[in-house]
Amino acid sequence: MKIRRIRVFRKSLPVPGGKVTIGQATLAAFDSTIVEVTSDTGVVGWGETCPIGPTYAPSHALGARAAIVEMGPGLIGAPISPGLLHRKMNSLLNGHSYAKAAFDIAAHDLIGKKTGMRVADLLGGAATERVPFYFFIGVGDADEVVRSVREAQAGGYVRIQTKIGGRPVDHDIEVIRKVAEVMKKGMRWAVDGNRSLTMRDAILLSQQCRDIPFVLEQPCNTLEEIAAIRPSVQHPIYIDENGVDLSTVIQAAVNGLCDGFGMKVTRIGGLKPMAAFRDICEARSLPHTSDDSWGGDITGAACVHLGATVRPNLFEGCSWVNKISEESHYDPNNPIRVTDGHVSLPTGPGLGLEVDAAVFGAPIAEF
Ligand SMILES: [Mg+2]
Repeated sequence: MKIRRIRVFRKSLPVPGGKVTIGQATLAAFDSTIVEVTSDTGVVGWGETCPIGPTYAPSHALGARAAIVEMGPGLIGAPISPGLLHRKMNSLLNGHSYAKAAFDIAAHDLIGKKTGMRVADLLGGAATERVPFYFFIGVGDADEVVRSVREAQAGGYVRIQTKIGGRPVDHDIEVIRKVAEVMKKGMRWAVDGNRSLTMRDAILLSQQCRDIPFVLEQPCNTLEEIAAIRPSVQHPIYIDENGVDLSTVIQAAVNGLCDGFGMKVTRIGGLKPMAAFRDICEARSLPHTSDDSWGGDITGAACVHLGATVRPNLFEGCSWVNKISEESHYDPNNPIRVTDGHVSLPTGPGLGLEVDAAVFGAPIAEF
């Protein structure tokens, strides 16, 4: 199969509850880009990429669309085989993995629909039909965060992530201590700095909370900083934002820079590199997530299908929003929903979505 047509859409996704604070940025809505890829056999696949603002990572919505438009004309006639498609995209544009991910996801959806297979089965097979979703809680005061933790516990979630950073570290330590008081046994907990802590504050926080069992996720900005603080930190460290490609993942695994990963499907370039990442982690017994920075049903389905294939005792859950909003549903009949802290793996072929293009309005580009 080859690509016959590409249409590009845009969708604004408001944050449920009005806003969320991650690292040092407070955001009210996210700007998602969706691609519809049609094959020469008339099969359609969908992909999506949704950076969270311009400062969280070296990616932004306008950059995603510029990269997609840059590659679009050259992709007409390209083979819809993930490996060959990535090579073709790399021949058209250097870098910009988060934009290439939209085409990668669409290709997997399309191949699944053509063959009658689910994406999870294309990626190695589903170990579960009920994929855990982890609940993330933005930076907030103790009362606010504790309230959200209680809500997560009542909602059946098995893992939570609380965000820290962008304020005096004493404030973060106070919130962590309050959360620890209400944390139920058996619930897993990640404290995520989103790159925002100084090395000093990361060490202080870990040492002053040494009695509290949590994973410290991406406390500092660079791999070098994480390597430097690692001997002084009391908690397991997960790398998230620094895991930009497979080379970095291999470097971190080989050098023992971390104890696991938060990994985003679009950041690493889509489901093909994500499956390779999963396999590297399994070879080194490194736990990891299958998540994304933000997105709607398409991003969610991609996270869930890959997540279902992860060895269960290494899987830290999927996530792509803090709470799912109505605007993030692109399939009116079988949207991706979280029930009792889990997402049911879609049963239909491909991503298992029947996307209604009308929810996006008119395409902003077509090739
Ligand atoms: Mg993270």
